[in-house]
Amino acid sequence: MFADIAVPKSAPEPLTYRVPKELMPFTVPGVRVRVPLRKRFATGVVVGISTTTDLDPDSLRPIEEMLDDAPLLPKRLMETAAFIATHYRCPLGTTLAAMIPARLFRADAEEAELTPAGAGSDLETADADVTALLDVLREGRTLKVPTLLSRAGISGRSALERAADLGWIRIRRRRRDHAPQIDVTAYRLADLPEEALLDACRRAPRQRQVVRWLTAEARPALSSEITAATGCSASTLRAMSSKGLILKFTQRKAGRARWSLSPSSERHRLTDEQRTAVKAIDAATAEGGYAPFLLHGVTGSGKTEVYLRCLETVLAAGMGGIVLVPEIGLTPAAAGAVTQRFGRATAVLHSAQSDGDRWREWQRVRTGEARIVVGPRSALFAPMDDLGLIVVDEEHDSAYKQQEAPRYHARDLALVLGRDTGVPVLLCSATPSAEAEALVRRELAAKLELRHRVAGNRLPEVALVDLRQEPPEEGEQGRTLFSRPLKNALAETIERGEQAILLMQRRGWAPVLMCRDCGHRMDCPSCSVAMVVHRRSGDLRCHYCGHHRAIPATCPSCSGEMLDPVGAGTEKVAHHLRRLHPGIDSVILDRDTVRRRDGLETALGRFASGRAQVLVGTQMVAKGHHFPGVTLTGVISADALLNLPDFRSGERTFQLLTQVAGRAGRGDLPGRVIIQTYYPDHPAVLYACRHDVSSFLDEELVFRQAFAYPPAARLALIRFESKSAPAARRAAEAAVDAIGRPPESVRLRGPAPSPIERIRERWRWQILISARNRETLRAMLELAETPTVGKNVRRTIDVDPLSTL
Ligand code: ADP
Ligand code: ZN
Repeated sequence: MFADIAVPKSAPEPLTYRVPKELMPFTVPGVRVRVPLRKRFATGVVVGISTTTDLDPDSLRPIEEMLDDAPLLPKRLMETAAFIATHYRCPLGTTLAAMIPARLFRADAEEAELTPAGAGSDLETADADVTALLDVLREGRTLKVPTLLSRAGISGRSALERAADLGWIRIRRRRRDHAPQIDVTAYRLADLPEEALLDACRRAPRQRQVVRWLTAEARPALSSEITAATGCSASTLRAMSSKGLILKFTQRKAGRARWSLSPSSERHRLTDEQRTAVKAIDAATAEGGYAPFLLHGVTGSGKTEVYLRCLETVLAAGMGGIVLVPEIGLTPAAAGAVTQRFGRATAVLHSAQSDGDRWREWQRVRTGEARIVVGPRSALFAPMDDLGLIVVDEEHDSAYKQQEAPRYHARDLALVLGRDTGVPVLLCSATPSAEAEALVRRELAAKLELRHRVAGNRLPEVALVDLRQEPPEEGEQGRTLFSRPLKNALAETIERGEQAILLMQRRGWAPVLMCRDCGHRMDCPSCSVAMVVHRRSGDLRCHYCGHHRAIPATCPSCSGEMLDPVGAGTEKVAHHLRRLHPGIDSVILDRDTVRRRDGLETALGRFASGRAQVLVGTQMVAKGHHFPGVTLTGVISADALLNLPDFRSGERTFQLLTQVAGRAGRGDLPGRVIIQTYYPDHPAVLYACRHDVSSFLDEELVFRQAFAYPPAARLALIRFESKSAPAARRAAEAAVDAIGRPPESVRLRGPAPSPIERIRERWRWQILISARNRETLRAMLELAETPTVGKNVRRTIDVDPLSTL
């Protein structure tokens, strides 16, 4: 018997091994095995078994050891892996590596220890290297192999193996223990009346604030929450704790501890629309079988409550559910709602988790302790049996597409998985993707609509400001950051003590630094893009490769001294805001914020608690947040995405504007939105103003049809990257030649330089192929892959690409 084994860490394509007789009964697809690979052992997964092989059986090495007594991945996930490998053209090993926590493939630590024979042996027969090893071990007794080798000054393992063969040392593999535990600190008020507590910190206003805040919250809170909400420091809390005013406790930070202390989610009485939607999905769950739904609900219509109820039904029926969210770090709210509703039955899986946490949560799913899994795209691979429902929240979000191999799209895969497993799949969005809408129109999915916001509040009113009509900002090369209507609305909002969100799609101070004398633009030396000016850190940065340098004092081209930061980013908007309203507190939310430790929690905490009145940020501010105090949303410029040469730029703009508009007026007070643009007639902008999703999609689908773009066609992007521009071009041309004359229905675009021609010193060429169906597309890709590419060219295939830049 022979087994094909994927060894993710070492070999992308599966390798064939012989199965020793005693292991035959246990060798089934999905179990991990230890196999010899070159001079070491590696961990792999059995992906196929056969009784014959084309290879010479005597040349095959045997499986060394079984590591699991039952498949790690259920059968349906092994099938999913195979589907991903073929559809997205990715080796099976790489695919499995993306599906299974890394820890399960990690080599175990090896330790060497002296045997009694080695301790007392006659060293005359030992060579110099072995002697050196034994000498080191006499002092250390048991040592990790790499430590031992480096102390003995030996490279390579041959001496080690000789010493082991002679019986002088023993090499043991030790399973690595779990990652170190991290503690989080939380506080609660001491059991005293509020007056007594306040009295005890009469002369300490910060401390009184903490007492008041904790009283109002009526729950324990994480120290990071308290400092963010009250502005006190950690030392204030320590002082209060030592006075006995608050009690400190610590708990282990598991994946979900972060949310477990938040107020518990209420179980709302459903609105009629919500009830209708829940009923339809529950009926499908009861019946069993594949049933795709698109839940299209306007922003603030309570989509979360709908799927929470459906998950309750699934749990009650003894099944489990998977909830996908775009990026757990950026939108803790949805994951939090699930964890609060289902408590210990929830597992949170995500890639930013420590290896240990992720693995623990994964195990809880595997053992059946956790029945609801919430996480970003990879949570789809949670090893759950008896799956009853898959929910894809914010299905339009581009974070569902993985940008490295395997380049899968989790929404599409959720549908495939739902079909193969026979379970309902619920896609949710306020701005459905063209793909989801097309499913509904082709009657491949049922649409459920929530047309009204809960609690009867209305969608905000949207006003367009034509920036061509506005007086330019001083020192901004004729541009306007804050138009008169936006300034007025902002002033009113601030005066009334309400909150505002300002959307500015670029981070940093300004996207370009330009010489006023000669027009020279500071570009990245390795990429064909401008370096972004960052004032806070005082440097120029390339957002593609990370290259950075100090802001030059003079122009490198003409030595002129007038260097102008052209355009604006979040830093500049926040700066102008402070000039307009010097007294107010504002926060910036963008990728620079998130990169700082606790940056996101602090920023969101300050805004949620009302301490900051204005939130300035990139598209991150548009992600599913629920801030009831926000009554104004201002879009500084709607145009950033519109100018991108990508067929999804209109859709992206529409979604972003609609989503960010949806952050206003979610509480008791009505909201309004001001969108500034130089293209007031663009359909994406106009439809967003009217909250008219279906007319936008009508028009968008016609455009996609006319130009053979998804969802009207299947698309693939083949990219060739090389430090040599001609090599990249030649490889792209060879691929097109290999395709030859494609069938009528196939549309080839390229070879052409990618819109961003160079990144990280690599020139980029590309071909876009649209085909009517998956099979034709695959045939084209197979042809395009036939020419071998040189070592200096990297070829990547992106099936169903989200971006063609
Ligand atoms: P969406 O995702 O559709 O934008 P959310 O699910 O975030 O909306 O819900 C918005 C708010 O409305 C949340 O605070 C939620 O708790 C609340 N909510 C949901 N359903 C109801 C209901 N039936 N009655 C009252 N409030 C509700
Ligand atoms: Zn760069």
